[in-house]
Amino acid sequence: MSRRPAARTRPASPAPATTQQAAGVTVRHYCQGIGDCHLLTFKKADGKPFRMLIDCGIHVSITGGPALVADIVADLKKETGGNIDILVVTHEHWDHVSGFLTAKDIFKDFVVADVWMAWTENPADAEATELDKFKGQAIAALQGVGQKLDGMQGLSAYMAGVRDGLQSVLGFQFGAAGERVRSARDAAAKLSQKPSPTYFEPGGPPVSIDALPNLRIYVLGPPRDKAALRLEEKASEMFPLASGGPFARALASGLKTNEAAEADYVDELSPFERNVGTPLSVALKGDKGSDPAIDIGAFVRKHYSGPVSAAASMEDRDQSWRRIDADWMGIAADLALQLDRGVNNTSLVLALEFIDSGRVLLFPGDAQIGNWLSWKDLKWPVGQGTVTSADLLARTVYLKVAHHGSQNATPQKQGFDLLTSSDLSAFIPTNKTDALKVHWGEMPYDGILTALETKTKGRVIRADDSWLADAGGKPGFASPSGSILAVRSAPRDQARGRGGLWVEVDLS
Ligand SMILES: [Zn+2]
Repeated sequence: MSRRPAARTRPASPAPATTQQAAGVTVRHYCQGIGDCHLLTFKKADGKPFRMLIDCGIHVSITGGPALVADIVADLKKETGGNIDILVVTHEHWDHVSGFLTAKDIFKDFVVADVWMAWTENPADAEATELDKFKGQAIAALQGVGQKLDGMQGLSAYMAGVRDGLQSVLGFQFGAAGERVRSARDAAAKLSQKPSPTYFEPGGPPVSIDALPNLRIYVLGPPRDKAALRLEEKASEMFPLASGGPFARALASGLKTNEAAEADYVDELSPFERNVGTPLSVALKGDKGSDPAIDIGAFVRKHYSGPVSAAASMEDRDQSWRRIDADWMGIAADLALQLDRGVNNTSLVLALEFIDSGRVLLFPGDAQIGNWLSWKDLKWPVGQGTVTSADLLARTVYLKVAHHGSQNATPQKQGFDLLTSSDLSAFIPTNKTDALKVHWGEMPYDGILTALETKTKGRVIRADDSWLADAGGKPGFASPSGSILAVRSAPRDQARGRGGLWVEVDLS
């Protein structure tokens, strides 16, 4: 990336539609389902390839995930010779970074010139550090609740739902063997030939790459604004991030209270003085308590835990319905949502613009609504004019759909409605069956699918498309069409009984 070519040729007028256009870029999307890994190959002036790899991971819930990712990384090595010019890590979620850890033995032979990350991953950034503290506390609290709920019998339907939801959210944070997502992110950072990754701010000057003079890259997210990151359900002033937020604190404190075996444990949430009352754990063991006038143990057995005696009526015997032991952990659902949404919103969002044609490819990572809405005020002075995010969306001809096509990751007004190019085509890294297994509900979301199908005139490719799984299958749209000049896919994976490893598009 050092030498700018002396000159480059450009046609005086756009080539007629009938002539074969040269591909501006070839994008190989790996088809692991819930997880991202995209290889972009541009052509340098000297004809040699310039490789940009965006993410490499798979969700922990997918059976055989690490083996599948190892195959993907082996394919990447074969395709690129292990030479990556830019590795983009969009955000710290297992389904985007797991491969850097689980396939580190293959990645160790790669030569990665530069690693790109968002400002949120920069340890020298004060706001990023604050965010990290929230993430750490939230993960610890959720893990505690997750373990507790896993060991409980007879949960209410609601709490069983919370338990399943927690498993799914924690699946973005950890590998199957408990590996932390942080280790995977750091393994990606260490691949760089430079001393540290390059961190990006939204709205900074467009990035140019010497080897690709026809390309300009705009950074749209993640936002600096805490409210836009949607770490909280409510206004950020109410829940200061540095203290971990009220949900994380309450859960952590609640867990300690429930687990306390010693009589001298101090319940931080107790409304009474410390020397008043008997800890629940002590009363449940039958202790009479400190007040000789009341047998607190008997009271608890009668009104709270049961049973009293074999002779007692059924209702007297079993008072367990009065207990709300697990229900307080229901707030974990809110915290889990905050954490998940917050981390998705730290996605590095890149718009790649071909200068000669003005055509744009949009890679939003897993940006959710808060991240998308924050692009509204971004402006870049370019040449004599100004480029806005609305311009970039209007010129977007290829979209990597955010967050596996979930309902909350592509807004209508500030998203879909601004994608107006008649050449628009899209790819969704998703697998509907796997999403249902991990209790995500609709992923991809039907409303988004329908809107995309209309907008792209059917030029939507999904990692779980049935034509990819059929030997000799073809997409439902003809190519060249819109931004897609050609589509290729890897042969069906007979051993796994599933579609091939990748689908590839030449884009103009
Ligand atoms: Zn994801």
